[in-house]
Amino acid sequence: MVLEMSNSSLCIVYDDVFLKHNTDPYHPERPQRLIDVMRVLKEGNVLSKVKVEKAVKASIDDVLAVHDEEYVKYVERAITSGKRYLDPDTQVSKESFEVALYAAGSAILGCKKVLEEDYDVCFILERPPGHHAGKSGAALGAPTLGFCLFNNVAIAAKYLVNEIGLTRIAIFDFDCHHGNGTQEIFYDDKSVLYISTHQDGRTAYPGTGFINEVGEGEGVGYNINIPLPPFTADDLYKEVLNKVVSKVLRKYKPEILLLSAGFDAHKDDPITSMNLSLNSFLEIAELVKRLKEEDVTRKAIFVLEGGYGPGLAQGVHNIVAYFTNMPLIREAETSSTNKVRAEGLRVISEVCEEVLKPYWGLEAC
Ligand SMILES: [Zn+2]
Repeated sequence: MVLEMSNSSLCIVYDDVFLKHNTDPYHPERPQRLIDVMRVLKEGNVLSKVKVEKAVKASIDDVLAVHDEEYVKYVERAITSGKRYLDPDTQVSKESFEVALYAAGSAILGCKKVLEEDYDVCFILERPPGHHAGKSGAALGAPTLGFCLFNNVAIAAKYLVNEIGLTRIAIFDFDCHHGNGTQEIFYDDKSVLYISTHQDGRTAYPGTGFINEVGEGEGVGYNINIPLPPFTADDLYKEVLNKVVSKVLRKYKPEILLLSAGFDAHKDDPITSMNLSLNSFLEIAELVKRLKEEDVTRKAIFVLEGGYGPGLAQGVHNIVAYFTNMPLIREAETSSTNKVRAEGLRVISEVCEEVLKPYWGLEAC
């Protein structure tokens, strides 16, 4: 349980332009998601504590640092020609191409804010999400783009490496789904460490993200997957953070920590099968604060990914409230069943044995 609060300064990037990616009201990734987030932030009075920045559009060159030109043109053509679906999952509307540029640009804006101004943390409340979008579309054999158009967090990471000249960026992806796009983009790149916790790909979209996917070439060891069994609860997730995520980040010492912030591993999410409560998202916020205090990393940027139930708005609220010293929304901690716990501990020790020990010199846990 997180007891201590912090006083780190935080900015939010949000803009009504994100509502113009006008998917149907019954589509899980719908405009109402962000309306709910902003309402809960307002009700909790945290909006009065933070500066809300307007969205900024990415240039095509920013996007081309990650995606093939052919893919970008395909997305633009499909949308301007009036298509409503790029694939069975991924719905678009006539302004979606523009909105996707704003989503990517806002992730870059978050980088600029923490680098140039006195913010420790920035939270980008954008849509469409991005982590399933690979270099040329659906990544690593995934059947669809999974609601994503451009990979916002990857575009931010590339900006930090190419434009700012940083050499150690980490992306911690806590969305319930594996970020197959992000993995593909940085698979041979050690300047961007990718760590993902997600529901086991044998039981969830996109069917990727196994322990033995460790990276290639210069990037070997810099891709760390922690595929968790369905119904993983807070107790197990805390062990993953302590035994794997925090250990690797302490060793890597990222100049900037990006978080692919998905809230669909919450127990009440309608499209997944995990059992996390809001406490796990607070654990992540607390870890970010600790890493900053220990000088492991200086700045953190949360880039919104998924989250389709009440855990989205409440989870975002609690992270913002945590960093602004405001009251949290409380929820009882969850416990894994013995069977789930045993399976999860086996995954942790396999990650330690097969990745942390050989590539990071960290003793097995
Ligand atoms: Zn997701």
